Amino acid sequence: MVDYEENVNLSKLCTIRIGGTAKKIYFPKSVDDIVQLVKISQDSGKKIVPLGIGSNTVFKDGVLDHLFVSTSQLKRYEIEEHKEHIIIKAEAGVSFKTLTNIVKKYNLEGFEKLSGIPASVGGAVAMNAGAYGAEIFDIIEQVEWVDKNGMIIVSSREEIEYGYRYTQFQREGFIYRADIKLKKSSRNIPDIIKELLKERNKKQPLDLPTSGSTFKNPDGISAGYLLEKAGLKGYKVGDVGFSEKHANFAVNYGQGRYSQLKKLLETAEKLVGEYFGIKLEKEIRIVE
Ligand SMILES: Cc1cc2nc3c(=O)[nH]c(=O)nc-3n(C[C@H](O)[C@H](O)[C@H](O)COP(=O)(O)OP(=O)(O)OC[C@H]3O[C@@H](n4cnc5c(N)ncnc54)[C@H](O)[C@@H]3O)c2cc1C
Repeated sequence: MVDYEENVNLSKLCTIRIGGTAKKIYFPKSVDDIVQLVKISQDSGKKIVPLGIGSNTVFKDGVLDHLFVSTSQLKRYEIEEHKEHIIIKAEAGVSFKTLTNIVKKYNLEGFEKLSGIPASVGGAVAMNAGAYGAEIFDIIEQVEWVDKNGMIIVSSREEIEYGYRYTQFQREGFIYRADIKLKKSSRNIPDIIKELLKERNKKQPLDLPTSGSTFKNPDGISAGYLLEKAGLKGYKVGDVGFSEKHANFAVNYGQGRYSQLKKLLETAEKLVGEYFGIKLEKEIRIVE
């Protein structure tokens, strides 16, 4: 039997701190546990909702009865050292903080631009997280995942469908583990990471609960620019608003509710549509 908790406050499981209560959340400790949960999902007809650290996720208010599955008990990793590179075989719940420590210790290149993203490996792979022109799929060798029939599949990067903040795993599939290949570097990687983190801190509202970029950047233009030009930087609905520091970051000023966030997003989509004829696409993942 896979460990679970009942009546869990979902606002504690996402970085914007918005959401109601999950009837039940499971905590698998192995790939076999994930297979078991996929089978429970098939039998019960309940949608399986994988949860990383919730930094790109928002939950509806009220009671939610999906099959929530947290990866917080899947934090093992192995390091395979080769002459010129290293492969990190990381379970879905391994955090980017842990990866950053490994990268600094072995002085590896390829991950430095991603190091400040608050992510679990599973969430980052599902979202194809990226920053400063780099994305996680640049360094992925293969992904081990469980499909909707409970089959364990190992797919190489070439076999996986992915694009800008998109992968096939957003439609289907539970990521169990990813192999990440990083080159041993002659540059000073810890110093480079330090500088990149400083830059990130300057631009992002890291002092308030947020779920990061709300909308994807449309082709060739930033969503933040469009939102700012549409007058939405600093715009609030109740306790939820677009940050004064970064117009594409929705923030929670205290007692934010999902209904307020929904209204904020609808207003943004409407205004940007009217002003620029551009349809914004959400980057955040909403669980209703
Ligand atoms: C302050 C801040 C800064 C950010 N900066 C960036 C940035 O620079 N670049 C960027 O790309 N993003 C950024 N984000 C967004 C977010 O950090 C990334 O999308 C991150 O990859 C999400 O990881 P997570 O573990 O929190 O995923 P979650 O939010 O928990 O999940 C995200 C999605 O992935 C799915 N998922 C999670 N785990 C699995 C799994 N094991 N198998 C299948 N699906 C899974 C979830 O169901 C959900 O749909 C930022 C967010 C914040 C709050």
